Amino acid sequence: MKQRSTTTMQASTSGPAPIQTEAIVLRTWPFHESDLVVSLFTRGHGKLRGVARAALKSRKRFGGTLEPMTQVRASFLEKARQDFVRLDAMELVRSPLSSPLNYPRVAALEYVAEVLEAALPERDPHDDVFRLTLAVLGALETGPVWMPVSYFTLWVTRLMGWMPDLTQCAACGRLLAGTPAHYSAGVDGLFCMEHRGPASRILSTESVQAAGLLYRSPISALAAEAWPRSRAEDLRRLALASLERHLEKHLHTARTLAKL
Ligand SMILES: [Zn+2]
Repeated sequence: MKQRSTTTMQASTSGPAPIQTEAIVLRTWPFHESDLVVSLFTRGHGKLRGVARAALKSRKRFGGTLEPMTQVRASFLEKARQDFVRLDAMELVRSPLSSPLNYPRVAALEYVAEVLEAALPERDPHDDVFRLTLAVLGALETGPVWMPVSYFTLWVTRLMGWMPDLTQCAACGRLLAGTPAHYSAGVDGLFCMEHRGPASRILSTESVQAAGLLYRSPISALAAEAWPRSRAEDLRRLALASLERHLEKHLHTARTLAKL
């Protein structure tokens, strides 16, 4: 564990030393009188919940670090027999508020936060998803939202192990290259013409190619790509259907994004 001194971190008692980790704030909600519970996606310890004592009373201690999708260095203390850790200090690394906010960007940030909050298991590190999130946050600072949103949706679904194979029919194994593939909201996998379900939708060959591009390329290499909302829209819909099926819930922010 890398130790690093901060001016704000000072354990008041001689208990165990605080644990430090990179983290991303997912959401907060009021707790007791003036505390906040913070859902944190930490790099070293996975998703966990911490209490920020008196965060509502004194804004100074945690500064601007509690805004959703803020990247921080968090320092926390484990409390025996308690689900919540105690947040000791939060050091700002990167704030989403440091770039101009517009409605699509806010909707995209809220979407990323909701997906991570719903998909990540408690206290189970996911370094690949952590790196993905940092890359997507970076891309959302500079450009239009649809490329980063497509990249995030496809990759987070894949990294959670829920993205269907896009190359062959899940029923007969026939290769789908060059032909439109079919999918249904309630079923895993893509299907050929013969095995498609009654209410199936089409995944276009252009979108299968777009998936290949998103899988192969680092997000920074895609910044120059023209990515209007309509590009790979059916691919996003397919990945989202798979995500929601595995999460067994609807993602409200995905609906907001779809209405942009
Ligand atoms: Zn088939």
